[in-house]
Amino acid sequence: MDTVRATLDNSSECWIDYIRRCIGINDISVHKKHGYSLYTWDEIVKHDKWNDCWIVVHGKVYDVTDWVPNHPGGKLILDGAGGDCTAVWESYHPLSLCEKGVPVKFLIGEVRDYKDFYSWDGEFFKTVKTRVEAAIPRHKCRDDPQMISKGFIIMISYFLCLSMYIYFCTWWSAIIYGLCCGQVGVNIMHDGNHMAYTSSKNLSWASGHVLEMVGSSSVVYRRSHVFGHHSCVNHYELDRSFDTTYPLMRLHVNQPRHWYHRYQQIYTWFLYMNLNFGDLFGTFDEFFWMSNYPNRRGSTSFSAFVMQILVKLCWFFYAILIPSYIHGYVSIFPVWFLYMLTFSIGYSLFFAVNHWTLDAGFVDNSSIGNTNWGILQVENSLNFALESKFWTWVSGGLNHQIEHHLFPGMVHTRLPEIRGIVQDTCKEFGIRYYQYDSFWSALVAHYKLLKALGEYDNPPVSLLTSPSN
Ligand SMILES: [Zn+2]
Repeated sequence: MDTVRATLDNSSECWIDYIRRCIGINDISVHKKHGYSLYTWDEIVKHDKWNDCWIVVHGKVYDVTDWVPNHPGGKLILDGAGGDCTAVWESYHPLSLCEKGVPVKFLIGEVRDYKDFYSWDGEFFKTVKTRVEAAIPRHKCRDDPQMISKGFIIMISYFLCLSMYIYFCTWWSAIIYGLCCGQVGVNIMHDGNHMAYTSSKNLSWASGHVLEMVGSSSVVYRRSHVFGHHSCVNHYELDRSFDTTYPLMRLHVNQPRHWYHRYQQIYTWFLYMNLNFGDLFGTFDEFFWMSNYPNRRGSTSFSAFVMQILVKLCWFFYAILIPSYIHGYVSIFPVWFLYMLTFSIGYSLFFAVNHWTLDAGFVDNSSIGNTNWGILQVENSLNFALESKFWTWVSGGLNHQIEHHLFPGMVHTRLPEIRGIVQDTCKEFGIRYYQYDSFWSALVAHYKLLKALGEYDNPPVSLLTSPSN
């Protein structure tokens, strides 16, 4: 409070703010441009551009336009512009900075009738963060030579596999290219879009954009995954992973059950095989899509939309047009189709088994303001095959999903280093930490969820599987 008031420029304080300060309504800061106001979400969401960027953290509204070029996390801040960035603020920044809060010089007001979805009270998240920061110094959490060499190997392989796909145009070259694309996705693109690939803003940013090489959109991915999924994992309305799956798949007890869900444990695997078709053609609607939920916003940038069209044209050129020119249209389509299937399945399954089994929770509105964010992240994420270097490599560290969700800004090759700290802290606080012994057992657990949610509105407790702890 004292710090806040020390920053006041009393000479420019208007009489309304003076009265508010005197009667102690708020931690008042007078922003020279806006004054201090209560804002509705309708007003806040309009400020979502690089030259007009507002963010919300713990119900306070900040105009960070001047800070955007200096932000250590690069342009990631723009994906949260006009929305609620509380979870991203808390999970990406050092504890000392979070305790100080967003610099008060950016404060311009607060959200009218704000409700934080999660609770930020309690000692669990603070404790685990303190221990992890002590073990992995800040400058190392995004810098790991192992990640750079891994990324280099995968990118070289990618271009080799692409060349083989174009030159040979056979079923085996399609499968190899598809698998390689999956590896680019989980190992490079995912870290890059979390701005976790390296501490170099530009390299991280570029590594996120490898998603464009397969005709998809990193802007949409960051908005739907980093903000829309990580901030509110497994909530049936807020977690945007459910947008791409329902109504075809029922993955949450709060979603209405239809007759065809009875067969979803059979047909879901075919849907996973086609994920990339949806990704390729389904990203456009995201550019026009808005929602009442502040963390569920689509992109409004026209330039990003135009870029998407160019990217898809490029992709069409080298994935279909060039091979067609060499081998003929008739022979390319089955090969292209096989490549898309392989890529889809090699990518989507790693994400599916990490949250969608009966051992994870079903988050609903009862969590609003009640449950500590860190605990919800742990209890709604699932690890698998932790001892296997092979699965850690090919899943891009997604088998350490719990650690990734607590520390999304950490490069995935460092996640095994903090596993023990997270496990011990969970044990100390009595928080369940689920892990499957193998990828196969995680897949079986996912199958059981599909079957149970297809048969029952509320699956009985007896259907819960028993992972090792
Ligand atoms: Zn992630």
